[in-house]
Amino acid sequence: MKTQTRAVVIGGGIAGCSTLYHLTREGWTDVVLVERDEITSGTTWHSAAQVTNFGMTQTMVGLKSHSIRLYKELAEDPEHPITYHHADGGIRLANDPRVMDGYRHFASMAKGMGVDFEVIDAAECARRHPLISTDNLIGGLWDPLDGDIDPAGLCHALLRRARADGAEVYRQTPVTGLTQHRDDSWTVHTPRGDIRTEVIVNACGYRVNELGAMMGVEHPVASMEHQYFITEPFAELQEMDERVPLLRCPISDFYSRQEKKGLLIGFYEQECRTWGMDGIDPAFSSALCPDDVDRVLPVLENVFERMPVLQDVGIKSIVNGPITYTMDGAPLVGPIPGKRNAFCIIGLRAGLGEGGGHGWLLAQQIVHGEAELDTWVIDPRRFGPHANVELTALKAIEDYQNEFRFHFPHEHRPAGRPMRTTPLTAVLAAEGADFGMVDGWERIAYIRPGPDFIETHGYRFKETFDVVADEVRAVHEGVGLTEVNGFTRFEITGGGAADWLDAMTCGRIPRRAGRVGLAYLLNHHGCIKSEATLACLPDGRIWYGAAAAAERHDMDWLTRHMPDDGSVRLRNLTRSHTILLLAGPRARAVLQEVARGDWSAEAFPWLSVREGHIGHAPATIMAVSYSGESAFELHIPNESLAQAWQSLRAAGAARGMRLFGSYAVESMRLEKSYRHWKADLVTEFDPFESGLGRFVDMRKDFLGKAALEARAPQRAFVTLLLEADHAPAQGGASIRVGGDVVGTVTSAGWGHRTGRNIAMGFVRPELAGVGSALSVDVTGAPVAATVTDPCLFDPENLRVRA
Ligand SMILES: Cc1cc2nc3c(=O)[nH]c(=O)nc-3n(C[C@H](O)[C@H](O)[C@H](O)COP(=O)(O)OP(=O)(O)OC[C@H]3O[C@@H](n4cnc5c(N)ncnc54)[C@H](O)[C@@H]3O)c2cc1C
Repeated sequence: MKTQTRAVVIGGGIAGCSTLYHLTREGWTDVVLVERDEITSGTTWHSAAQVTNFGMTQTMVGLKSHSIRLYKELAEDPEHPITYHHADGGIRLANDPRVMDGYRHFASMAKGMGVDFEVIDAAECARRHPLISTDNLIGGLWDPLDGDIDPAGLCHALLRRARADGAEVYRQTPVTGLTQHRDDSWTVHTPRGDIRTEVIVNACGYRVNELGAMMGVEHPVASMEHQYFITEPFAELQEMDERVPLLRCPISDFYSRQEKKGLLIGFYEQECRTWGMDGIDPAFSSALCPDDVDRVLPVLENVFERMPVLQDVGIKSIVNGPITYTMDGAPLVGPIPGKRNAFCIIGLRAGLGEGGGHGWLLAQQIVHGEAELDTWVIDPRRFGPHANVELTALKAIEDYQNEFRFHFPHEHRPAGRPMRTTPLTAVLAAEGADFGMVDGWERIAYIRPGPDFIETHGYRFKETFDVVADEVRAVHEGVGLTEVNGFTRFEITGGGAADWLDAMTCGRIPRRAGRVGLAYLLNHHGCIKSEATLACLPDGRIWYGAAAAAERHDMDWLTRHMPDDGSVRLRNLTRSHTILLLAGPRARAVLQEVARGDWSAEAFPWLSVREGHIGHAPATIMAVSYSGESAFELHIPNESLAQAWQSLRAAGAARGMRLFGSYAVESMRLEKSYRHWKADLVTEFDPFESGLGRFVDMRKDFLGKAALEARAPQRAFVTLLLEADHAPAQGGASIRVGGDVVGTVTSAGWGHRTGRNIAMGFVRPELAGVGSALSVDVTGAPVAATVTDPCLFDPENLRVRA
């Protein structure tokens, strides 16, 4: 066994095998995989192994396309072919028009990744799958490339190729300990000897937290028991020349695919069960959980209704095995939060289909620092520290119970809530707030107009349209107040702080105490890594503010690049403070009343910061605006939040102050073309492509500059006006000229001050001129769209300066 290598991948299921193979493809050939038992002895060996192209984001579609291409290539290897039923086709069923809207949107989104889905009606579903009834069915989404693969064959094919390129694989080699050294390299301990390595990868499937414990980490991953049956062969299938397509049924919570001349049917039962929460028997390997037919009988009844032919078909075998889940259903693929040179590819619940793509994106991250697609949707740092196994288990149960029922826009399901609250959450609830969730934080979405008001979720404008219009009007004409909790906030100090931040960001940063500026951080490829509000406080303190979800991501990026001479220090204030946001033409008057001092536009202009008090609550007050109105962020220590709230409510009462929520903020920021991190700002594009050239100063040195200089723009960021009033566009929707996809929507919604349906996104540069006539898919159908000025509302910023 080697004693030294570049990377040790721990775990020989699909996740580990794919990672090892892709590391060799990306140029790291001195790499090792260690497996405690035999290859595929975890979940992989008994997987139903369906491979789909369906995904809810472009990154997921892209990585699944990679899997499909790779698996096809492996299957067609003339010397070592493997079994892959490629392109049997598959249907996701629907009995709800809102789900059909969703399918149309996903088809539009996939089109932008070169993938052709088709939305079909109930009769066409039955024509393509002759065993199903059309009762309680309105249609479905057709994925022509759906299929299934031999899991063991796939893993061995990947390892064979990795070995041919120099990788080594050690079976029967459990990792029993991990030691990290001062230079961030690792020693991997096994009974067969130690291996020193630059990088480790946790690919341990349901044993993820056994390995996590060896490095002092709890990964938010929980396992669920999951069952499928394989039926006896039956005449209807035996008589068919073609294989039947796969089915995924959100109406009745099952899936099926053909297995020889019978069907494999998998169940997502409501009476579901977590697995391994109190530890896993070390001997559980190549093993299954006991059969539990009773648990899935209610689902089976529904399967019989959808496929009546099965009522007379016997069950040949039952498989019940553990499957891993995360808090949002997507796996954790990337750097392990708080660790150096440690990566994971864990929490895969559809790992056979996705594993090829995840291993690809992980290997690119390890070798090049970034993958070619933005990987935020699978980034292990996307959850805050609230993400633990207990909470994940609750979300896993909820997710399992809703396996094929995707979240509608703005839908946040109840399990585990409230997750993260401030001292004001109960106060806001009593004021009628309805909450959305931002990184687990309960954040005001809007104020309910009455106690019986219920928001239904879907892809079209709905009840909240008028509610939001009203909140926007209140802010625009008077003054509004809201809470922005969870905002990432680091205090950066030390003699070297300003120069270091200057080198980390691509534009000029504010250096004078009392000033605030917006700054962009690039990666080594010259593309957008993060967006920060930098505020210069007295005594050389600099506050770094970023999106709530960015806490772990930005902490990781900043500390990774901090000088180690002690000249820069960083303190995390994210969870000790909360923002109260005061906005509207009368906001300054309210501020003047609650805070001592001169808060006039002359004394405290736009982009200023000052420390003071709101009532007697200490506050760091910034004149910054995400709404396009005169606005003030009041950063208050949580212990004083209730006091500040009371003072503001009292002062605002005489000025007609109203509460507002994030839906109103979203409407207003679109009218200003203000970007949203990880919607409009992604690692696939540089600041020039992202329309942020005014925040770049090529005369100075900064991280990513050399790469930025070498880039040729492939895309341009635009704001579009849509000729539709029934629905907003959705992020990911295709922008077209005729039938050709020329770009992708990143954010969209109704602008209530301008009365326009707005979308923002990236298009081919030659189509980005103002007036350019394009179309945008809205609920799947193209509507006319025109490129407009980059700022629709108050382009001179007169209101924010007021
Ligand atoms: C019943 C069922 C049906 C499924 N159907 C599908 C499907 O149709 N399509 C689909 O895409 N997915 C499906 N899945 C999910 C899919 O099978 C899993 O997502 C995938 O197999 C997970 O692979 P993995 O490599 O992450 O984990 P595993 O396959 O569990 O591999 C982890 C490996 O790590 C090894 N290991 C653990 N600890 C150590 C250690 N300390 N040292 C060394 N090695 C260690 C284990 O022995 C194991 O081999 C299904 C799952 C189940 C249970």
